Amino acid sequence: MWRCVSRSLRVPYSKRSVSNDSLRSHISRFFSTDAGEAPYTIWPQKESPYTIVDHTYDAVVVGAGGAGLRAAIGLSEHGFNTACITKLFPTRSHTVAAQGGINAALGNMTEDDWRWHMYDTVKGSDWLGDQDSIQYMCREAPKAVIELENYGLPFSRTEDGKIYQRAFGGQSLDFGKGGQAYRCACAADRTGHALLHTLYGQAMKHNTQFFVEYFALDLLMHSDGSCQGVIALNMEDGTLHRFHAASTILATGGYGRAYFSATSAHTCTGDGNAMVARAGLPLQDLEFVQFHPTGIYRAGCLITEGSRGEGGILRNSEGERFMERYAPTAKDLASRDVVSRSMTMEIREGRGVGPLKDHIYLHLNHLPPEVLKERLPGISETAAIFAGVDVTKEPIPVLPTVHYNMGGIPTNHHGEVVTVRGSDPDSVVPGLMAAGEAACASVHGANRLGANSLLDIVVFGRACANRVAEVHRPGEKQKPLEKDAGEKTVEWLDKIRNSNGSIPTSKIRLNMQRVMQNNAAVFRTQETLEEGCQLIDKAWESFHDVQLKDRSLIWNSDLIETIELENLLINACITMHSAEARKESRGAHAREDFTKRDDQNWMKHTLGYWENEKVRLDYRPVHMNTLDDEVESFPPKARVY
Ligand SMILES: Cc1cc2nc3c(=O)[nH]c(=O)nc-3n(C[C@H](O)[C@H](O)[C@H](O)COP(=O)(O)OP(=O)(O)OC[C@H]3O[C@@H](n4cnc5c(N)ncnc54)[C@H](O)[C@@H]3O)c2cc1C
Repeated sequence: MWRCVSRSLRVPYSKRSVSNDSLRSHISRFFSTDAGEAPYTIWPQKESPYTIVDHTYDAVVVGAGGAGLRAAIGLSEHGFNTACITKLFPTRSHTVAAQGGINAALGNMTEDDWRWHMYDTVKGSDWLGDQDSIQYMCREAPKAVIELENYGLPFSRTEDGKIYQRAFGGQSLDFGKGGQAYRCACAADRTGHALLHTLYGQAMKHNTQFFVEYFALDLLMHSDGSCQGVIALNMEDGTLHRFHAASTILATGGYGRAYFSATSAHTCTGDGNAMVARAGLPLQDLEFVQFHPTGIYRAGCLITEGSRGEGGILRNSEGERFMERYAPTAKDLASRDVVSRSMTMEIREGRGVGPLKDHIYLHLNHLPPEVLKERLPGISETAAIFAGVDVTKEPIPVLPTVHYNMGGIPTNHHGEVVTVRGSDPDSVVPGLMAAGEAACASVHGANRLGANSLLDIVVFGRACANRVAEVHRPGEKQKPLEKDAGEKTVEWLDKIRNSNGSIPTSKIRLNMQRVMQNNAAVFRTQETLEEGCQLIDKAWESFHDVQLKDRSLIWNSDLIETIELENLLINACITMHSAEARKESRGAHAREDFTKRDDQNWMKHTLGYWENEKVRLDYRPVHMNTLDDEVESFPPKARVY
């Protein structure tokens, strides 16, 4: 067992030629082991600037957002020697920004049932979600939320001390027949902050070994197709680290930053997805990108759906509450794709607000000031800072903004990564798992319901840990790494670090973001998508001419941003090509030339492979089956709110 990995290695690059022995003694001041055997080896690299340090763990988790932390806690609880690698300090992960809350049929406000939650999620997914995974998530939800409460998450409360639950979009009672459900548990409008800090505290308690500000570069794949860990760069001192593990869990979050205007953090660059794609494995359903109806106009910061859950309403330039026309029952709380499209239609038809008539107003000023203060303090502050608006008096200018990636690394409901092998569309990739926004379980299908992602990350983070405990034993002997494991990655890193082209990283990134924003938008046509494919392929081409100025290995943000750009580009290319191929409208994928959902031809998951720097598409079936007879599957029907 590791005793101390709290300090990273500091090997000055002026001393690159130090012998391995002296390096080892240098390192051993920081590392020690109970096991008696050497915990790491140094990979000798004559004449190379790269020092490679080997680590062996039972499990390695990449990412310390909600999904990564929950997986790491579970693994440590089960007795697995676990490393958690993260490019950010854990509590800076994007989960911290989540506002509205987490869904679970606790039944604290009205009677509720996890099957009703499941029905809403299947319907929200526009029948692209896997019903076995959705059943698993919704059934586990009440347990997961109570577990968070026991961990110490400071939920908002009702008068009688129960966890308070607010209304959220797309949530109903009694299989859509019983009106609006109150199912979203929250900690005011700072639920992600409370959740992430609570989980980090638990991870500390369970002695997870953190490798903070380590940037995972690639998977270590064995030639037999199994995953044996990852190779990562310590951003502080430039050392490379091979983490050899029986189980690797990717929890690297989404890739919202492929777009120009996104609510996600600048660090949401789809690194895990790209690692999987580079390993020759598919990414699933990337064409489904969620636009949140209420990003602040221009700034892009999120105003939670909880604001409409608490009674906020959208109005056009005529002062009309237009959602009554588009979704007569759910109105402003219809699901996100529906509201985003309705807003876009209003703007297109000349009823947008502001001098350019290019956005919409969100009114909260009719709500009692106490409600704003108690339930929505965070967004009141955000609106003041980023829109200069006093929410008690004026409306907030808002616009649909990229918010969430429904697609990602395909997994089953245990979190095991799957791929198509021969006639088996659900073939498990040994040793590799994924959870959270990076993964596609697929519980969100073509459109995620608000407050189902915080649920997804804790339920599937935990599922990964439980599955590892079913399949492996702590301390189990591992197949040795292949001799050249990670070598290609080192070559690739070296090439990027020494790139001497003519286009700065920031310019290629801006170009990519503009193409995605214009050509894979809320509404899509064959023309915009075909053009988008050409333009995004060109953006990829231009990456060969990228220019880096900084060649160092110490805190080289130029290098990190360029690797992140490559990762974003891979995600962006697969997104655009998948969208171009899908000739129907479903959930967030709304085509003006194919306005109907086409279950006959398109009720299937897209698989996008990255082969020879090009996208190849394939498909796998949607799971229409449930796990057992506690609930029957929901056959497809028209989706109206
Ligand atoms: C503003 C905002 C508000 C939201 N509000 C809600 C809400 O109210 N309810 C809800 O259900 N959902 C909400 N969502 C969605 C939800 O918060 C996210 O989908 C979810 O938190 C993602 O969690 P995650 O653990 O998968 O990833 P993240 O929290 O994004 O964490 C990713 C982790 O991966 C690490 N990482 C990434 N790449 C690398 C690499 N190369 N090497 C090492 N480490 C790496 C990062 O350091 C980080 O620790 C919101 C999203 C946003 C953007």
